[in-house]
Amino acid sequence: MSRTNTKLLQAALRTLRTTRTDSLAEPLTGGIGAIFMLHRVTPDTGEGFAPNRILSLTPEFLEAVVDQVREWGYDIISLDEVPARISEHEGAPPFVCFTFDDGYRDNRDLAYPIFKSRNLPMAVYVPEDFADGKGDLWWLVLESAIRKAASVRCDIDGRTFALATRTDAEKNAAFHKLYWALRAVAEDDARSIVAGLAERAGYDPAGLCRNLVMSWDELREFAADPLVTIGAHTTGHYALAKLPIERARREMAGSIARIESELDRPCRHFSYPYGNDAAAGQREFDLARELGMLTAVTTRKGLIHASHATQLTALPRVSLNGDYQEIGFVRTLLSGLPFALIDAARQASSIGTFRRRA
Ligand SMILES: [Zn+2]
Repeated sequence: MSRTNTKLLQAALRTLRTTRTDSLAEPLTGGIGAIFMLHRVTPDTGEGFAPNRILSLTPEFLEAVVDQVREWGYDIISLDEVPARISEHEGAPPFVCFTFDDGYRDNRDLAYPIFKSRNLPMAVYVPEDFADGKGDLWWLVLESAIRKAASVRCDIDGRTFALATRTDAEKNAAFHKLYWALRAVAEDDARSIVAGLAERAGYDPAGLCRNLVMSWDELREFAADPLVTIGAHTTGHYALAKLPIERARREMAGSIARIESELDRPCRHFSYPYGNDAAAGQREFDLARELGMLTAVTTRKGLIHASHATQLTALPRVSLNGDYQEIGFVRTLLSGLPFALIDAARQASSIGTFRRRA
């Protein structure tokens, strides 16, 4: 998302809050709970070029969210408790879960102490390759390559990109152009294009994964605390829906089995990499059920409703995004109003499309 769009959305969320529209709508748009999606927890460096900052919260903001949601009357529960909590929600307080994707070490070093000191649960979804230290975190590689380069040049899907990357503004613009063009092509191609860009920029991504992500030894120690749930996140972190079914099944089943053998316990929770409609659909939801998952989460935006009792492997989440680190935004998101508005806009635009085509 461009900075202008981010600013517009921030302004819209602030308006919903200050006018109390979110609270007024909540009886209609609210849910029985929410699953928060996080990635990293890091101090804010204030850097001008940090396009992956959206994936990171500061420890101070995370701590404020944890305390505030409890003050608002939410129970913070583990993923194991989610199915029963959905089917037996009558009369129960609303709930939230905190889930972290990708297994970053800062989850243990900066997030875990916040949960541990309050005796609260958290969950981390780990790709097998990442814990092996050989994960391709290509979105971070792209950022590092652009940071080092004064210009970048590559071909994506028959289109040549030649972009200046001298200033922060140029670097941000180049990152967003390339990132979304890469998300649209076969992922193996996208990854090799990024590897080429990194090589030409003189950036070596070899140590990146080991520097940022917990190893199996670290995960074993971390998961020894019953407050910590480790879920699966595939082997190689590919958008599953774009893969042939047998490869998708291997990506899922392999990572679940590896977690079970490394951590010596059942693995019952799964997160679809990228998790949007293009990355995970009904085929993947069915696979997760076949593979015995109690829950599986997407990055589709929304609260948990009673109807999710029959869709436990297609659960939506609420992203806690580094661009939106204000408690008021979290309150507005939990009202459900932003998601109801997005749904309404989507329906309106599909009616519009239908009319134009008719
Ligand atoms: Zn991920």
